[in-house]
Amino acid sequence: MDNKNSEEAKGRQWIYPKLIKGKLYRYRSIFSWFLLALLFSGPFLRINGEQLVLLNVLERKFVFFGVIFWPQDFYLFVVATLIFLVFIVLFTAVFGRVWCGWACPQTIFMEMVFRKIEYLIEGDAQRQRKLNASHLTAEKFFKKGLKHVIFLAISFLIANTFLAYIISTEALVQIISQPVSKHLTGFIAITVFTLMFYGVFAYIREIVCTVICPYGRLQGVLLDKQSMIVGYDYRRGEPRAKVRKGEANLHGDCIDCNLCVQVCPTGIDIREGTQLECINCTACIDACDMVMAKLNRPKRLIGFKSEEEIISGEPFKLSKRVYAYSTLLLIMVSALAILLVRRTDIETTLLRAGGTLYQLREDGTVSNLYNAEIINKTNHSINFNIKASDPTAKIQFIQNIKRLEKGSTTKLTFFVIRPQKGIEQYKSDINLNVFSGNQVIEKVETTFIAPPNF
Ligand code: SF4
Ligand code: SF4
Repeated sequence: MDNKNSEEAKGRQWIYPKLIKGKLYRYRSIFSWFLLALLFSGPFLRINGEQLVLLNVLERKFVFFGVIFWPQDFYLFVVATLIFLVFIVLFTAVFGRVWCGWACPQTIFMEMVFRKIEYLIEGDAQRQRKLNASHLTAEKFFKKGLKHVIFLAISFLIANTFLAYIISTEALVQIISQPVSKHLTGFIAITVFTLMFYGVFAYIREIVCTVICPYGRLQGVLLDKQSMIVGYDYRRGEPRAKVRKGEANLHGDCIDCNLCVQVCPTGIDIREGTQLECINCTACIDACDMVMAKLNRPKRLIGFKSEEEIISGEPFKLSKRVYAYSTLLLIMVSALAILLVRRTDIETTLLRAGGTLYQLREDGTVSNLYNAEIINKTNHSINFNIKASDPTAKIQFIQNIKRLEKGSTTKLTFFVIRPQKGIEQYKSDINLNVFSGNQVIEKVETTFIAPPNF
């Protein structure tokens, strides 16, 4: 029996995947619980007093594992994004769409949370179909009502968690605990996200994977014959034919039981070959393995294998494309590691004050006026001082600012004063060191202008 509702054939075909039990489904469930625990505990975990992960696009503040990144670190963001993209391409070229079936939040919530609740309340695929086709009774009203209330509650929880990653847990607690009038925007955001997640998991479902998600649409470009995919071994399975108990098998191993189609959450028949709609959830592998076990035939008629492997029967081999991507990835990760190691705790932007050249002083010295902007990129306050690396040069500050609070920016104006005697050229380089205690935390280079006198 097809797992799509024929009554709705004219419009969207609602999919009723059959509940599957098997080894891979068990592993997927365990892995999903681990990922869900990580996702929901993330906003409460702290490293160096900072949230484990914060993606505050509104304040342009990003935290990863306790390290704060500011807009000034944009170059790191660009490199990290490029690495992520190459990693996705590489990962997909080798393992196909396994991310979609095993780690994508959409699939995890849909198949491991919402779908399981649906099975619990409405029963397996067949009962769900019957319930949907039946008239409104007290039982139907209760089951549907209960399901949608729970769906809304979980969507509310997901919306709050999602916001905690964006605006921080503390800001979210304020929105929740204080009057709505004080945080109207926050309240609207929670409501909109709750409804959005509810809509996705209650109604839109697999359309996210098969139509909306750009990663899914890119599969045709990212996969090749050597990529691991969930594939049907047609050489072994065909010609398919139904079998009767006790009958000798004169055909291929597929008995055309259709179980692999019935369990598929995107409603496809994997025996028709690789399809964009396949999210590599491996449910059909479990289903077919169960059938093969009952028939005493070898498992993995449907398995995690490459097209090349199915065609040639040869074991899995890595393609040249994978080696090329891996080398590129290695180079990029090394570059990012170097950039991260060289990243300073503070960032200083230094410019000579506009409209000024130099000032000749009565004591035989010459000075230049500078404006500096200093950003503390850490999550602790820093006491600092600026000194010239040339011991003959002195610095005279206009303001007496020596401390930077965490994540703050300060502006300073100061003179660099040098003895005029010995200056050999009109424009020369000068190095300034920013100290915290006795430690140099940043070096800045600028130019110094003075009339030569030697
Ligand atoms: S579950 Fe296996 S045997 Fe049954 S139809 Fe699918 S491939 Fe054929
Ligand atoms: S074809 Fe198999 S692996 Fe692909 S989505 Fe359907 S059940 Fe999952």
